[in-house]
Amino acid sequence: MNDSKPQPEAEHGGRSLQRLIGPLTGLPGVHFESIGSFPSGSRQYSLPRFTFRGPNSGDPIRIGIFAAIHGDEPAGALAAAKFLAQAAHEPGVAENFLLQIYPLCNPTGFEDNTRHSRRGKDLNREFWKASAEPEIEILERELRTQRFSGIIQLHADDTSDGIYGFVRGHTLTENLLRPALLEAGKILPRNANATIDGFAARDGIIYQSYEGILAAPMQSEPPFEIIFETPHHAPMELQVEALVAAVRTILAEYRRLISFAANL
Ligand SMILES: [Zn+2]
Repeated sequence: MNDSKPQPEAEHGGRSLQRLIGPLTGLPGVHFESIGSFPSGSRQYSLPRFTFRGPNSGDPIRIGIFAAIHGDEPAGALAAAKFLAQAAHEPGVAENFLLQIYPLCNPTGFEDNTRHSRRGKDLNREFWKASAEPEIEILERELRTQRFSGIIQLHADDTSDGIYGFVRGHTLTENLLRPALLEAGKILPRNANATIDGFAARDGIIYQSYEGILAAPMQSEPPFEIIFETPHHAPMELQVEALVAAVRTILAEYRRLISFAANL
C-alpha cells in the first residue's frame, strides 16, 4: 500500500470499489483525484476522476466520460477503466483531447449493486433541479466548471436485447453515435425496434431523453452528449468491449469532423 495516494474505501461486503479504482491510479500519464466526498453510515465515499491528456492538445478538447451512475450497471465502469488503460498505453486514441473519466458516479449503488444510491435516489433523474444529493452537487459542480465539448455516458439496459443510444446537445451528435453503433454492432447486436425504453427510436438512436439526466448546464456552445446503452443480460466482456469500441469511435469521429471543419 502506498499511503501517499488517496485510498478509496476498503471492501464493505458488497462489490469492491478499490478493486476497480486501484489498478488505474498507477497508469502512466494518468492523474487521479477525488472530486468530492460524502458520508454514508459511518463511512466516507468519494467520486473519483481520472485525467488523461493526449498528444497535440495545446488547446485541448475537453471530453467527459461518465459511468455507473446506476450502480447495478458495472459494464460502464469496467469499460471506462479499460478505455483509460488503453489510452495510457496508446495515447494516440486521445490525440487533441483532455479526457476526464468518472468511472464511478454512484459509489454506494455500485458497492450495493443497486440502480439507486444508498439514499434511494435514481441519481440520473436528479440533475439541474436543485437536488440535495451529494453525488449530484459534486457532479454538477464538475459539469459547470469543466465546460466539456463532449459528454459520453455509459449505461446498460435490462429491457433491451441490443445496443442503442440517446443523442442530445450539439447537432452533429448523431453523426458520432451512428458510426459508434456500427462499430459496437460488430460485438453485440443493435436494437432496431421503433420504440426503445418508451421512446421513439430510429436505427438504435433516440432523440429525446428523461428529465434530470446527467447533462451539461446551459452553455453558449452546447457539447455533443451521447448516452450509450448495452443489453444488460449480454455477457459482461462483450458489453465492455462494445462500450470501449463505442467510446473510441465517438472520439475518432469527433476529431475527424472538427479537423475537417477547421480546414474548410
Ligand atoms: Zn443506466
